[in-house]
Amino acid sequence: MVGVLALQGAFREHRQRLESLGAAGREVRLPADVDGLAGLVLPGGESTTMTRLLDSFDLWEPIAALHARGGALWGTCAGAILLAADVLGAPPQDGGHQRSFGVLDVTVQRNAFGRQVDSFTTPLDVRGLDAPFEAVFIRAPTFVRVGSDVDVLADYAGHAVLVRQGRVLASAFHPELTGDARLHRAFLEMLVPELTR
Ligand code: GLN
Repeated sequence: MVGVLALQGAFREHRQRLESLGAAGREVRLPADVDGLAGLVLPGGESTTMTRLLDSFDLWEPIAALHARGGALWGTCAGAILLAADVLGAPPQDGGHQRSFGVLDVTVQRNAFGRQVDSFTTPLDVRGLDAPFEAVFIRAPTFVRVGSDVDVLADYAGHAVLVRQGRVLASAFHPELTGDARLHRAFLEMLVPELTR
């Protein structure tokens, strides 16, 4: 069973894509929804809003525990920001600090492409895929520092935009908004079989 964090943002598209690949998907809103998951997708949306909803729904601890017991995590766009060790560009009213799970040793810069180019689509060369992936960037972040244990699977304009560290995958773009299921398939292959039911 794979969960999709369903507090806000593009969660339906992720669940539908996972189910189209034969995985059982569950929308996660409450701590009990994390029980028995083999992995969790944290979708795109607005990361500050998501941190507040994670507080309200008491989801920080159960999701950290899922990672600790071997579950796979995949953050896309805002979801990737939630996984990062360090977040740049948090709102000044929050003292410039934004809470995150810290399970991915990267520094993420929010809204890295600025207002002028806030959304675009581009073919990306992705390590391990035989043909480019059409990547949709929407007010996207980039990974401006990548730790030595983190593999960069794709970059764009000089910055990493798809990275993996063990069972944690993070994309600055939105793979659920295109018809291409290859990254969802790659995520399903990261799940530990013993945790899959
Ligand atoms: N800019 C958003 C944030 O910082 C992310 C945008 C997205 O998920 N498409 O949270």
